Amino acid sequence: MAKDYYKILGVSRNASQDEIKRRYRELVMKYHPDLHKDDPSASKKMAEINEAYEVLSNPEKRAQYDRFGSVGPQPGAGAGYTGGYGGFDFNDFFSEGPFDFEDILRDFGFGGFGRSRRTTRETIREERAGEDIEYPLTISLKEAILGTTRNIRLTRKETCPTCHGSGVKPGSGYITCPTCGGTGVVRRVQHSIFGEFIVQTTCPTCHGSGKIPKEKCPTCGGTGVVTATKTVEVKIPGGVETGMRVRIRGEGNAGPHGGPRGDLYILIRVEKDPNFEQVGNKLYYTAHITFPQAVLGTTIQVPLIEGGYERLKIPAGTQNNTEFVIRGRGARRVGERRRGDLIVRIQIDVPVHPTIEELALIKRLGEIYSAKNG
Ligand SMILES: [Zn+2]
Ligand SMILES: [Zn+2]
Repeated sequence: MAKDYYKILGVSRNASQDEIKRRYRELVMKYHPDLHKDDPSASKKMAEINEAYEVLSNPEKRAQYDRFGSVGPQPGAGAGYTGGYGGFDFNDFFSEGPFDFEDILRDFGFGGFGRSRRTTRETIREERAGEDIEYPLTISLKEAILGTTRNIRLTRKETCPTCHGSGVKPGSGYITCPTCGGTGVVRRVQHSIFGEFIVQTTCPTCHGSGKIPKEKCPTCGGTGVVTATKTVEVKIPGGVETGMRVRIRGEGNAGPHGGPRGDLYILIRVEKDPNFEQVGNKLYYTAHITFPQAVLGTTIQVPLIEGGYERLKIPAGTQNNTEFVIRGRGARRVGERRRGDLIVRIQIDVPVHPTIEELALIKRLGEIYSAKNG
């Protein structure tokens, strides 16, 4: 007896695609296994919801389901279908759903979808997506705090210009894939939070097409990718620190055989600044003043990391190592809008090579101090 997918999702038979999507999101929030760790029936329920959604969110599968009360080949439909779980291909579900599952879960604050999903995604990535690239980038403290845009040159895999990623010599014919016998899939058992089930994975030889070219593309040797040097504009947000990685989606290597691109990770190193030292969201600046300035008071110009100066009044009688605060001119934490404070630390300089005139006055001052104290 076929399941009633409409009843499982709680929508009417003529519900719109938007309604189905909305309802599904509600159900994910309610039944996600992460929220019901002690209740094993929740993951079963979730699996059922996923199954219903997979069919009803796909207009083609939905039409088929409406007509036949199930999804999958009808008797006599041929050898295209090789079984699987609940009548659909899990790989398909996880990789090419109408929207990114991970994104929804992140929207709702979930940690992820458990082991099964990750395993499945990794399998797919191995076979189809391009590799990620790590690129080390040294930036100034100013760029780290305020954010920056840099053009970087990197060598990466690009889609082959001759075959456009197919790996096939233009004009060449095809033969049936010997690995999968033309079905495009291979089967194996997979363990997951839903239990154990058989997954179909894309055939590694033909990458799902069920056929392989008679002749490989001469430019890329059949891989669909070539190595090239490219200039990529990368935006670094304000607030990064040494050791952080900035992810630039879809700027990694092109996938073999027309697969999606990997990501580019910018590995940040922040140069030391001659004027400023960063501690958390604070910046420290040391201002040098003379002994008379400390005694009499003065106004100094404090440089800012973004350029320009801010005037700071130093009151009469200021001691060595006194700290003054300039609000909002310090560093920034990634994701925070407001900047921290700039701390100005006062250092009173002792003259190392005083002139004869200065020396006479300082000696005189010393005599006055001695007379006063004793
Ligand atoms: Zn090619
Ligand atoms: Zn194959």
